Amino acid sequence: MNIILLGPPGAGKGTQAHLLVSERGMIQLSTGDMLREAKDSGTEMGQRVAEVMARGELVTDEIVIALIREKLEGDNAGGFIFDGFPRTLAQADALGELLNDCDETLDVVVEMQVDDEALVSRITARSTCADCGEVYNDNTKPIPEDGICTKCGNATEFKRRADDNEEALRNRLMEYYKKTSPLIGYYYAKGMLKSVNGLGEIDEVKAAIAKVLS
Ligand code: AMP
Repeated sequence: MNIILLGPPGAGKGTQAHLLVSERGMIQLSTGDMLREAKDSGTEMGQRVAEVMARGELVTDEIVIALIREKLEGDNAGGFIFDGFPRTLAQADALGELLNDCDETLDVVVEMQVDDEALVSRITARSTCADCGEVYNDNTKPIPEDGICTKCGNATEFKRRADDNEEALRNRLMEYYKKTSPLIGYYYAKGMLKSVNGLGEIDEVKAAIAKVLS
């Protein structure tokens, strides 16, 4: 089964994708993670996109479509979770074509609904384990006092994303409403859209997603 997790920044796409990976053996394709890796490893493309990402704007369709194309050529035993892709109508069209070319289909688009105030407080409070990417939140799931990640068990660093600040977040939300939210109608018209309430506890959202996937 191949699915998209669709929703604004801070909706919990990454958290739910991690659960689907560990519990169902699915493969997470997060363009945000791929771009951050390219940036951290100092590739030419990574350097080009760094400023755009720091401002909270979208990088070009061409770059992210190329990243996804490369990953689709790999193993797909457990099914793909597209996390943070597609974010524009052009990316959505390209994904349809790429899947078609490798005889795959898109099965469900899960829209995670969260109100804007919750997004701002989630994002400004979030940090992630530098080793495994587990997400923590200052209010609901604070970083362990002993500095050991509850998921991977490593004594590690907990990082805040450079674009998790209020100004970049405003741009990210604007980009979402202008360019990404039209995908809700796009996938509704294709009969693929399933919406879940993304506001509850992690386990409640997980159960809601399990229900629409079954
Ligand atoms: P994310 O981790 O999904 O919140 O993405 C972080 C940043 O990476 C975004 O604010 C964009 O600058 C860039 N990005 C990630 N995915 C895409 C995409 N599909 N299209 C364009 N830009 C993207």
